[in-house]
Amino acid sequence: MLNIREIEVRSLISKSKLPVADYVINPYIGCPHKCIYCYAEFMKRFTHHAEPWGEFADVKRCAKKINPAKYLDTDVSIGSVTDGYNPLEKRFGATREILKQFAGSKVRLQILTKSALIVRDIDLFKQIPNIRIGISLNTLDDNIRKKTEPYASNISQRLAAIKTVKEAGLDTWIFLSPMFPGITDFKEILTHCRSYAASFAFENLNLRGAYRPRVLRYIKDYHADLLPLYKDIYASQSAQYLYWDAVEQEIHKFCRKNKFKYISYFYHEKIRKK
Ligand code: SF4
Repeated sequence: MLNIREIEVRSLISKSKLPVADYVINPYIGCPHKCIYCYAEFMKRFTHHAEPWGEFADVKRCAKKINPAKYLDTDVSIGSVTDGYNPLEKRFGATREILKQFAGSKVRLQILTKSALIVRDIDLFKQIPNIRIGISLNTLDDNIRKKTEPYASNISQRLAAIKTVKEAGLDTWIFLSPMFPGITDFKEILTHCRSYAASFAFENLNLRGAYRPRVLRYIKDYHADLLPLYKDIYASQSAQYLYWDAVEQEIHKFCRKNKFKYISYFYHEKIRKK
């Protein structure tokens, strides 16, 4: 049961410390996609929602319009703690309303989603010359997707959508995120998706907070043979660093050899600092 409400906010855009964006826009609070590894669950602390993550969604409305001229020469990302194309977008159109405000502007806008609904807005994307459209996935196996991202579009719908966006002449990317040890086969995904995207990005699976036990339970229930590996990797920060450093080296090697344009968003610095 999804608890939905429309709320009035003072501003839709906020500063970001993410490596990919100077500013972020989240058209919804909460995300009905309910991915088991969702780190955005921390948002509950700021919104006073008592419902479990994935079971509430506030649709943001804002009387104050965004002035795109203010954000030229910055990177603006739609959807950092929600998916702007979650199933509610079909009914409420909050993301589409925001996109309309950027039409004609040269802001570097980036969208990332797990939804095939993205094709609906190709007409608007074409009016924003520096827009990049991305889908995220971490497997080509829809049985894994069903258990980990139960309410997002299935894998073939996502791939068909990003292909359509690319064929419309837009800049596309695929984000392999989060990469699950022993499950995400990045070479298979890149090889399969080469023609769908101009570039690829990578992010490792972090396990902390409320979703750590949820992810480990999933591994125990559906990939029991991998449980010792997960326990080893996530036993300490240094073990994580060692594991992900090796994976990152493999990504570099594979992408260079096969001429993939890519970027890695592995969190080594944070692990090192700690
Ligand atoms: S789509 Fe993104 S924001 Fe939504 S539940 Fe999944 S990980 Fe969280």
